[in-house]
Amino acid sequence: MSDTIKSGIAAVKVLEEWGVKHIYGIPGGSINTLMDALLAEKEKISYIQVRHEEVGAMAASMHAKFTGHLGVCFGSAGPGGTHLMNGLYDAREDHMPVLAIIGQFPTTGMNMDAFQEMNENPIYADVSVYNRTVMTAEQLPHVIDEAIRQAYAKKGVAVVQLPVDLGWKDIPAKAFYSSAAAQRKYPNPSMNLADLEAAADILNRSEKTIIFAGIGTRKAGEDVIKLSQKLKAPIAVTAINFDSFPHDYEALLGSANRVATKPANEAFPNAETVVFVGNNYPFAEVTDIFKNVKNFIQIDLNVANLGKRHANDVTILADAGDAVRELTKIVQEKAETAWWRANVNNIKNWRDYVRHLETKTSGDLQLYQVYNAINQHAKTDAIFSVDVGDVTQTSIRHLHMNPQHMWRTSNIFATMGIGLPGAITAKLDFPDRQVWSLSGDGAFQMVMQDLATQVQYKLPIVNVVFANAQYGFIKDEQEDTNTGYLGVEFMDVDYAKIAEAMGAKAYTARKIEDLNGIFDQAENDRAAGFTVLIDAKISVERPIPVEKLVLDPAIHQTEDIKKFILRYEAEGLKPLSEFLEAEGIQPVYKSTELGGF
Ligand code: FAD
Repeated sequence: MSDTIKSGIAAVKVLEEWGVKHIYGIPGGSINTLMDALLAEKEKISYIQVRHEEVGAMAASMHAKFTGHLGVCFGSAGPGGTHLMNGLYDAREDHMPVLAIIGQFPTTGMNMDAFQEMNENPIYADVSVYNRTVMTAEQLPHVIDEAIRQAYAKKGVAVVQLPVDLGWKDIPAKAFYSSAAAQRKYPNPSMNLADLEAAADILNRSEKTIIFAGIGTRKAGEDVIKLSQKLKAPIAVTAINFDSFPHDYEALLGSANRVATKPANEAFPNAETVVFVGNNYPFAEVTDIFKNVKNFIQIDLNVANLGKRHANDVTILADAGDAVRELTKIVQEKAETAWWRANVNNIKNWRDYVRHLETKTSGDLQLYQVYNAINQHAKTDAIFSVDVGDVTQTSIRHLHMNPQHMWRTSNIFATMGIGLPGAITAKLDFPDRQVWSLSGDGAFQMVMQDLATQVQYKLPIVNVVFANAQYGFIKDEQEDTNTGYLGVEFMDVDYAKIAEAMGAKAYTARKIEDLNGIFDQAENDRAAGFTVLIDAKISVERPIPVEKLVLDPAIHQTEDIKKFILRYEAEGLKPLSEFLEAEGIQPVYKSTELGGF
């Protein structure tokens, strides 16, 4: 064995020791030492050539969301690096460990105002938890190792700028190592019994409790359901936490606000107690969702988030699963309550409405029937990489999710274009699972060049494009806030033709009756190893705005209710107040005007 090693190769070996399998990016003169090192190590780590660096960074961020492990991407000096930004901000906002390696001019030309040469450090200062320029060849592997440790420990983006000449230099082979084997997770905190007892005391007395479960309850869905059943407390989720629970659990209210379902929005104003568990709901203050709540119990692992969204009556610093299991042991079992029955009936009524839309067999093709086809063809452990826009809202309403599924998107940064890159990494990370990319046409157009990446790497992904030639989510906002529409409609495009030209199997659905045949064929193509695109030409109507329901005769005019029902095909959809009154509960807050943004 040689006594020396190229510094760039040593750096890539550090990545390998941390378990990195894929690295996304586009080469450039200023990052070519990394390319050389990746070539040398190609049996151990796969370089994935994307068509836009943004897609590489989004794939890296989504890799972390799907697997919990570090995502890695790179870009060359100047524009190659700055193209990564949306993906890096996505990772920052969702607290995902991502490493970005940025090319830099050779050290001899640094600080000389040479071509594509600039002080890169400030560019990445805001997005990162660690941001350093490598100064010597010897320190390159060390800086990469440090960056990875920081990305994991601080749950964020680490950026390393690499002057291109340094990676070609020889360094002593024994002088570098990775700290991957030294990593340990913090054990869950031990729980404070007095806090648990205080929570149990409130829960035993409360007649109208909601468990509001955020993604801190992932992997603990069954435990949350046990607590829900014992307390007769329905479960609301944050919009990104639907895949923790079976979609047909009778007391699953769904999510609140706009990417939301009707039962959740209606239940909160009527609730007496909220168990806010593993949850950092970002609409809490701006919608005043908890304004009628009398008791607020928070369970969270992160001390920085304790008491953040509402004043707590009880605070439990604990792992969500641990605390929920402990609470379930000590609370008293309730017999079926009026609150439970009213909510379960309201949920049933909502599900009937949703099912009616999904299973329509006549009329224009609407997004609902497309979801019906997806549900019919989705495997029980399918992975959904979901874009931002109407598709975020409609996916949580219409996909029949369960805890074997994985559903991921751009949660907080909410960048359009995340669906397709997420599907690339999901298929590379879980080659044996069925992977769907679900996007609106607006978001798809931002990244559609990378359908070629899916084809090039023979990734059998089913990409569904909900195409109605509009930015629907924003169009609906303009309907509510603006004097008219501007910039929210665009020219329709034949996405199937584009996909075919890139070598994918492609179909265009225009009618409800097209769907079954097309999805059957798509599934056969996928099983045969082809990338597939389904261009679903759907109608333009607005999905029901559950944050602005007009259904309750106590607060709305009969004419307005009729118009609302007609527009949203909502015959038979009833307000929660009807179910509460039938159970002898006086609705305390009949309006569901919760704001929305
Ligand atoms: P996080 O923000 O990640 O918070 C999780 C919390 O759990 C943190 O406090 C963390 O410390 C804690 N935690 C983590 N692990 C544990 C553990 N093991 N034990 C205990 N605590 C733990 N969401 C909605 O609900 N309604 C909407 O209307 C909505 N609109 C959206 C619109 C768009 C276009 C998009 C893209 C997203 C939208 N979202 C919506 C999602 C929203 O932006 C947030 O991402 C989501 O509400 C946050 O969910 P969370 O609080 O569960 O996750």
